[in-house]
Amino acid sequence: MEFTADELWSRVLEATRDRLHGQTYETWLAGTAAIGVTESEILVEVPSEFHVEWVGVRFGPLLSDVIQQILGRPMALSFQCVEDPVGTTPMPTVEVTPQAVGHPHQMAGSAQVYPRPSLNERYAFERFVVGNNNQLASAACHAVADKPAIMYNPLFLYGGVGLGKTHLMHAIGHAVLQANPSMRIAYVPTEQFTNDLVTAIQQGTTAEFRGWYRRMDLLLVDDIQFLEGKEATQEEFFHTFNALYDARKQIVLTSDRPPKEIPGLEERLVSRFEWGLVADIQSPNFETRVAILRKKAADDGLMVSHDVMDFIARFCTSSVRELEGAIIKLLAYSSITNQEISVDLARKALHGSFGSGSASSASALTAEHIRKVVAERWQVRDEALSSKRRTKDLTVPRQVAMYLIRDLLDFSLVHIGRLFGNRDHSTVIHSIRKIEVAMDEDPEFRQTVEGVRDEIANRSLN
Ligand code: ADP
Ligand code: MG
Repeated sequence: MEFTADELWSRVLEATRDRLHGQTYETWLAGTAAIGVTESEILVEVPSEFHVEWVGVRFGPLLSDVIQQILGRPMALSFQCVEDPVGTTPMPTVEVTPQAVGHPHQMAGSAQVYPRPSLNERYAFERFVVGNNNQLASAACHAVADKPAIMYNPLFLYGGVGLGKTHLMHAIGHAVLQANPSMRIAYVPTEQFTNDLVTAIQQGTTAEFRGWYRRMDLLLVDDIQFLEGKEATQEEFFHTFNALYDARKQIVLTSDRPPKEIPGLEERLVSRFEWGLVADIQSPNFETRVAILRKKAADDGLMVSHDVMDFIARFCTSSVRELEGAIIKLLAYSSITNQEISVDLARKALHGSFGSGSASSASALTAEHIRKVVAERWQVRDEALSSKRRTKDLTVPRQVAMYLIRDLLDFSLVHIGRLFGNRDHSTVIHSIRKIEVAMDEDPEFRQTVEGVRDEIANRSLN
């Protein structure tokens, strides 16, 4: 092989860069890296699942072309996400200290190789935004990283999908390694632990399997809810846990629910998981979602205005992963249609007009939809919002509906007036102002309105 993977790929990127728009290149290719090359194939790592699809479809032919020019022969290209599902592809380790993040195959005399993901560079404390949804969990992770096995052992993090559990877990790994590069760290998704165990049993190498785990200084086990109903794995994990715990080694676990609620988890494991600290992570509120988007944009050098980020934060309410997906989708949309990123474009991109996103089956974000959700929240009849009656039970929801329609759809004041029984545009502007002032002055009211907004978004996007 005339080039290393790195050399080849940086030549490919250099040549490709000239042929693409700056923003397109930055969005799709700048974050890629070659992680392996053979005679006939090059394996490229990209930042997200979405990139895997998109870079392949959109830039595959161009990249192949360039490779052919450089090498004088064709090469197959394959893409893999940083977080490629465990076990599908052997991941070469990319840590600073590969010998510290030990793998079973480094053990003398072991025939077993356990491919496992390395720590994701992006999942560091510096890139994690702390909000009131994850404050305790994040503080606990810092404490554990600063003083492993002293403060909270085990540390058990739980919360819904895409809320940052894996991120925090990797962050502990990075921080511990940074402070002490000789620490032995294992990060293992629970399915991997199970698969490795099954293989070890089949090959008669359970002793090596055990030995390997028990030599760790820090064991990070992700998605422990998958122990559900797996008796042999639970048994094995119980002993691994005890051995590490007794040796004063730190254990960190994550799950989508608290220990007690994992069905079919042995009582002795439940109680051990509760020995240290059990910390939950909730969905981020609006302010935290905005902060996360701003941080991502700053970290990744994305040119996305605050308006657009506010818009996305309003629409993606369930998880951080969803937020990230929305930004990527928007960048894709902007790059494909060659339009500048704006609130308008975001609205289009995130409303099913693009690709096969989940939004395609959504009820559209329309004035009718907004009115309906608002009317339900204040328990009034939808039609009453258009009536001339000016009792307080109607004026508040009417004004909120106007405000949200203006805010989410950017309709003109005249048009909004028509939707509410032909009211004058000055009435509309007065109504919107009133809501803005009320939201500024009364945090509780603000929360109510934000809540309705979230619901509108949820119901129109899911
Ligand atoms: P989980 O393991 O809880 O399903 P992940 O840790 O995989 O979630 O997080 C999903 C995505 O959201 C990741 O890309 C992660 O970096 C990002 N993320 C989650 N929480 C935060 C946060 N508070 N600040 C910055 N990024 C976050
Ligand atoms: Mg996870």
